[in-house]
Amino acid sequence: MSHFNIPIFIPHLGCPFQCIFCNQQKITAVKESVSVGEVKKIIDTALQTLPEGAITEVSFFGGSFTAIDKKQQEMYLSVVKPYLKKGLISGVRLSTRPDFIDHSKLEFLSDWGVKTIELGVQSLDDKVLTASGRGYKSETVYKAVQLIRQHHFQLGIQLMVGLPGDDLSADLYTTKETIILKPDMVRIYPTLVINGTPLAAMYREGRYQPLSLKEAIIICMKMYLHFQKEQIKVIRMGLHPEEELTKGNALLAGPFHPSFGELVMQAVFKEQAAFLIKRLLGNNKNLKQLRLFVNSKDLSKLIGNHKNNIRYLKQFFDLDEILITQDPLMARDSVGADCREVLYPRYCSSRSDFIAAYLS
Ligand code: SF4
Repeated sequence: MSHFNIPIFIPHLGCPFQCIFCNQQKITAVKESVSVGEVKKIIDTALQTLPEGAITEVSFFGGSFTAIDKKQQEMYLSVVKPYLKKGLISGVRLSTRPDFIDHSKLEFLSDWGVKTIELGVQSLDDKVLTASGRGYKSETVYKAVQLIRQHHFQLGIQLMVGLPGDDLSADLYTTKETIILKPDMVRIYPTLVINGTPLAAMYREGRYQPLSLKEAIIICMKMYLHFQKEQIKVIRMGLHPEEELTKGNALLAGPFHPSFGELVMQAVFKEQAAFLIKRLLGNNKNLKQLRLFVNSKDLSKLIGNHKNNIRYLKQFFDLDEILITQDPLMARDSVGADCREVLYPRYCSSRSDFIAAYLS
């Protein structure tokens, strides 16, 4: 059954912190806190467009929900309650900080129909957390996760790459620790330099260099493959394009791309195809023309933007031609390869084959 979110942004509301990368008002372009009437309107409008019987959650994002004044939390949740009672909404999802989780807060959320809590963890490396002004250490995250599990919520973990003090090994450490926490879902965001933040000042003074788009894609690809190996869903990579970043002067620097997640998936397919071509050429040394096979739903990921993946593979393996066959018999996330004349590939790589080889 289809699953839908009705997002409601509550920028910076209730958050007494100033993480060095954050200017929630610029990210969401919502300056005032959203009113009860607006929440109701957002829900009513969304429900009109969603198919009947869809699983729909109302999602309070953008701030730290459990850090808001309790009366205001109640005010928002009470708007959703009638929809829950009528079965129009199946649950509430919200994002918050790990240091604003305790037993009484979780009991309160459970009573109001909250099903999913997404923790803005960002990193599990203490030096990265400190350098980013998060105001808590990894120990706080572990305790929050334990409490969320005890109260039977679904758990989402939001991570960032490219923060000050961060590097690939810190990101892979965070990935490994996150896997141990067994979240139900993960989001990964590359750090962007937003005007008006302390990070923007650091960038201007030359004390911070953001990741390039290419670096961010490679790091996220490696993290994604580790999570996929453990069957942990990565539900988003990169900020939503409509999060107002592309308009005005909000974005100062950093690896922003409106289809960032798609670029990461293309990078995965490129590596997976390269892994397979290497095997094929190992047994057919003089092959100059070959054919790749892929499920039609994965075609654009295999080819890449502007056929970048095909161009790269041809050049890397010194090939004259790579032909593509869309094959309905190929499983999703799989690639096949053989000589150009062949109709059914003898060389195939499922995602799990590829991950096992790539991460070993
Ligand atoms: S805790 Fe969240 S809302 Fe508050 S400053 Fe940090 S990133 Fe922004």
